[in-house]
Amino acid sequence: MYAEVLIEYKVKSLDRTFTYIVPENLRDKIKIGMKVTVSFGMGDSTINGFVVNIKNDVNLGNLKEIISITDEELILNEELLELGKYVRDTTLCTLISAYQTMLPSSLKIKTINSKYQKYECYLKLTMPVDFVRSFIESEAKNQNQKDILNALIENEKVLKSKFSSSSVNTLIKKGIIKEVKELKYRINKENVRVENKVVLMEDQKRCFDEICNHLSEEKTFLLHGVTGSGKTEVYMHLIDVVVASNKCAIMLVPEITLTAQIVNNFYERFGGDVAILHSGLSAGEKYDEYLKIMRGDAHIVVGTRSAIFAPIRNLGIIIIDEEHSESYKQENTPRYNAIDIAKWRSAYHKVPLVLGSATPTYESYARALKGVYTLLTLPKRVNDAKLPKIKIIDMKEEMKKRNVVLSSYLKDKIRDRLEKREQVILLLNRRGYGTLVNCSSCGYTFKCPNCDITLTYHKSTNSLRCHYCGYYTTKPSHCPECKTGELKDFGLGTEKLEQEISSIFPESKVVRMDADTTSKKGAHERIIKDFKEEKYDILLGTQMISKGLDFPKVSLVGVISADSSLNIPDFRSGERTYALLSQVSGRAGRSGLDSEVVIQTFNPDNFTIKMIEMGTFIKNYQYEMSIRKTLKYPPYYYLVGIKICSKIYEDASKEASKVYKYLKDNISTESIILGPTTASVFRVNSVYRFQIVIKYRFDEKLVNALREVDEMYINHKTVYIEVDMNPYYI
Ligand code: ADP
Ligand code: ZN
Repeated sequence: MYAEVLIEYKVKSLDRTFTYIVPENLRDKIKIGMKVTVSFGMGDSTINGFVVNIKNDVNLGNLKEIISITDEELILNEELLELGKYVRDTTLCTLISAYQTMLPSSLKIKTINSKYQKYECYLKLTMPVDFVRSFIESEAKNQNQKDILNALIENEKVLKSKFSSSSVNTLIKKGIIKEVKELKYRINKENVRVENKVVLMEDQKRCFDEICNHLSEEKTFLLHGVTGSGKTEVYMHLIDVVVASNKCAIMLVPEITLTAQIVNNFYERFGGDVAILHSGLSAGEKYDEYLKIMRGDAHIVVGTRSAIFAPIRNLGIIIIDEEHSESYKQENTPRYNAIDIAKWRSAYHKVPLVLGSATPTYESYARALKGVYTLLTLPKRVNDAKLPKIKIIDMKEEMKKRNVVLSSYLKDKIRDRLEKREQVILLLNRRGYGTLVNCSSCGYTFKCPNCDITLTYHKSTNSLRCHYCGYYTTKPSHCPECKTGELKDFGLGTEKLEQEISSIFPESKVVRMDADTTSKKGAHERIIKDFKEEKYDILLGTQMISKGLDFPKVSLVGVISADSSLNIPDFRSGERTYALLSQVSGRAGRSGLDSEVVIQTFNPDNFTIKMIEMGTFIKNYQYEMSIRKTLKYPPYYYLVGIKICSKIYEDASKEASKVYKYLKDNISTESIILGPTTASVFRVNSVYRFQIVIKYRFDEKLVNALREVDEMYINHKTVYIEVDMNPYYI
């Protein structure tokens, strides 16, 4: 018996299978899709790989043997093996890296097994129930024995530890019950299902019914529901139906911040039938959740991006919440988009895909308007709660009054809400204290030694940090250049905002949520829980506070500066600013409180800001679409971003021109090729990055040309290439 093994070697020319002998002791265990260890190359070096085929006769000379099977339970099934090829072909990665993404190496039973695997002892009956009943009547010696047996008549198995051990032993000796050991999952929720407590509103019901009518079709729905319109409830009702027919569901959420709230809702409703997958889990937890899914012990998977690869066999529905979130696109190899993977799986299983958002991407919305997706809308909030009133503040005027951080209007509103004992959310999309530190005498500015970016001042640690590469240094007391000058910080970050708020409203309790306050495991969850329980009056933070959170007592949202998002030079910045502002606004007034959103900006006349003021998603969409049509951007054209990177400036520059020329000569003349230009931050982590952008509609030569370019630089000493099909940022 022989196995073809795709080996774990990141060099593309080696992205192929090698044949190995399956030794006697592995023959009845080995299966296609398993991870195995084989020896490779000269000497004793070993390597991992995936079995992609098993055959009985080959005519080859000296073959090596498979050394071992990594895990007998974790297997890529037929569907996932096929899906890997799709990932390879659409993101231009190697097949092996696609498989590794689907079955990550953190899932290695060997390391996990010995360390954490836990077992639980259960009792089961060995005799028919009738016999047991008569035994209870006639022979059972005491109440303890009767309790055990009665429990086992009611339940298939019971926990051994719950009962007196002498009675258990007696019954085992008599041969009426037996002991069984079962793997204990680290996350172990009780298997209780709660009936739907909530009755769907008319609009929710309409959307729900429409999707229910197509449960065995490959069909994509775009559920466009304003914030607080009860999308989550629609998802849960759908999942209920799917699970009732013994099928499984995948539900993706953007970030761990969001998972906590949704996961808790899901646990309450579906109990232990839910498996969760996200990067905040320990290796052992992740392994267990995987096993739950593989074994069919959980029918519902809730997770972040990579949960889209969950090894579910009988999939019934895929739901992607907040579909506009950029977290669904992986920013390193393989650069896949979970929405594309979801479509593929929806087609494979012939089941619906539901994309939900209050602010869908304009690409999705365009597809919905064209009828490629089925558009479903929830135009109103649940229970007729009103959307918040929007007030735009011109900060140019406020500056004249020396109101740098808070406008007098926002200040008054915060005070008012604090008096009413309602809660406030403040968004500032920049962490740290000041954004820039320089010398007041010679003008020296602190920059990252590795990146083309200024260092951000973090007061709590008295450090200067690069938000790109993580470089940090202690802030000196005087200018390192002129030795005498005083250092001053400029700009505003969340840390400084927190300090300002505390000094203006000394009686208020303020909590900050950003990358700095949430780096520890469980920190997100704690802040969210505490704020929900009203231990704080004001929650301030970066965009991580904008998404999906449901706080009933929040009645005021303040956006400290809308400009940081508007000023990003990207064709999607209008779309993104609208989405961000409307999402964060959506945190206010969710339980029916009269609510308001105050947006501070230096550009009150900006079109997107005006549209936010009017609350019109459609008009902003139409406006941006007209620009994209003229400038040939998605969804009118597809994009490819190619980065040519090197630590040596001259090499990057020279090769970028070569790549440009090669592509120009080898892709369709209909396609547009731009560049090479410097990437928006040119040097990151000491690497210079040039960028080429291709816009195309149909280009049969493109993928091949890109592969060729990629191959050319595999063995290059100083230059490497990154190809991103449909990048989120350019
Ligand atoms: P969305 O995800 O659309 O922003 P949610 O699903 O979080 O909105 O719903 C907003 C609030 O309304 C939640 O507190 C939810 O429990 C409640 N809710 C949703 N549907 C109903 C319903 N049919 N009846 C009563 N309350 C509902
Ligand atoms: Zn840096």
